[in-house]
Parts: sequence; structure tokens; C-alpha cells
Amino acid sequence: MQRIQDIIMSFNDLGLSAPLLKAIASQGYETPSPIQEKAIPAVLDGRDVMAAAQTGTGKTAGFTLPMLQILSKNPVPHRRPVRALVLTPTRELADQVYTNVKHYSKFLDLRAAVIFGGVNQNPQIKQLRNGVDVLVATPGRLIDLENQGHLSLSKVEIFVLDEADRMLDMGFKRDIDKIRSLIPSRRQNLMFSATFSKEIKSLAQTILQRPTLVEAT
Ligand code: AMP
Repeated sequence: MQRIQDIIMSFNDLGLSAPLLKAIASQGYETPSPIQEKAIPAVLDGRDVMAAAQTGTGKTAGFTLPMLQILSKNPVPHRRPVRALVLTPTRELADQVYTNVKHYSKFLDLRAAVIFGGVNQNPQIKQLRNGVDVLVATPGRLIDLENQGHLSLSKVEIFVLDEADRMLDMGFKRDIDKIRSLIPSRRQNLMFSATFSKEIKSLAQTILQRPTLVEAT
């Protein structure tokens, strides 16, 4: 009979590096969630990923962990340009994703920042000036600071659209199109959505290239 340890997948099986495994252990996670099992290897493989996942499924770690691994495996010398951009619909979600990024990257030499509207922009500008590898942002403030010349998105390698359905519901389609025009066309794209409407599918077509489809069951 197969032993239970042989059946249950562990984080060690997903190809994650030691600093990330250490961070996962310090969070107290024992096994990857279904979405993590599927998304992590696909992202590490460099694939575009379209994932059907709601909050509570562990989706944030599902894209954050492999994203951090990719960035840390290919460090960029000198000034830190924004190499990973995570777009979220709300300030609360941006903050939540940022907190996750901070936790998971604590044993890596990567810097993260979060920007959103409704607060003074100066501390955000100061942070950007110091160099940021991973930027978590809501669309409005991101475009605002880009327009003012406080950040460049020309070196983005990984583009993540989190809660894409909520983004469309909140009227961010034009902002997403604008941001898409500011990032390189050669990049890895990850898109997460709880629902799959016609609009989401058509957005996915404009963003993703030959995506791996991942569903949390
Ligand atoms: P999310 O769906 O990304 O919002 O995550 C929901 C919650 O699950 C968060 O509080 C995470 O810290 C937690 N979480 C994520 N992955 C795991 C895991 N593999 N094991 C236990 N908890 C997890």
C-alpha cells in the first residue's frame, strides 16, 4: 500500500528553492493547496497562467512564490528596476499581496513596494526611488506616478493581474490597457479570476500567450 507521505505532495516537490521553503515553513504551511500544486510548477516553467481561483484558496502564494524564485535566480545588477508588477483592484488587496510578498521574500535579496491611491504619494515615491524589484499596485495610482515620471515599467518581466473579474467590475479595463502599453511585450503573464465571463476571456486573450489553465477544485 502507498504510504500517505508518498501521496500528499509537499512544497519540496514543486521545485522551490531553499530560501522560499524556509519562508514557507516559517509561515507554518505544511502542504501546498491545490492551486499552488498546479500553478507553481507552471509559473516556474516560464508559462503564462490563467487561474480560476477565489480568495482563500492560497492563490497569492501560488503566484508569489514562483515569481520570487524567478527573480532571485536571475538577479539584475546595479539599480533595481521594477521586474514584477502585480495589479490588484483595491487598496486592501494590494496591501495583503504586499504583506505576502514581504513574508515569502524574507530570505531573498529582493525589494518590494506597494502603491495605491487615497494616501500621500510622497512616501511611495521615496520608496520607488530606492529601487524596487516587485511592485504591487492599484491601477490609478500606478498610472499617476508613471505619468509624473516617478517609475518606469519598461523592465517588467512578470505581469500579474489579480482578481481580474473585480478589476473589470470596477471599471479598470481602460487602465489595464494603458498599463499593458507601458510594459514590454515579451513578458510572463499570470491572471487570476474567480469567474470566467465573456469579458474575462477576451481580456485573457489580449494579455496571455498560450496559457496553462489552472483551476482550484
Ligand atoms: P489567499 O487565497 O492567497 O488569499 O490565501 C488565503 C490564506 O491561506 C492566507 O491567510 C494564507 O496565508 C493561507 N495559506 C496560503 N497557502 C497556504 C498553505 N499551503 N497552507 C496553509 N495556509 C496557506
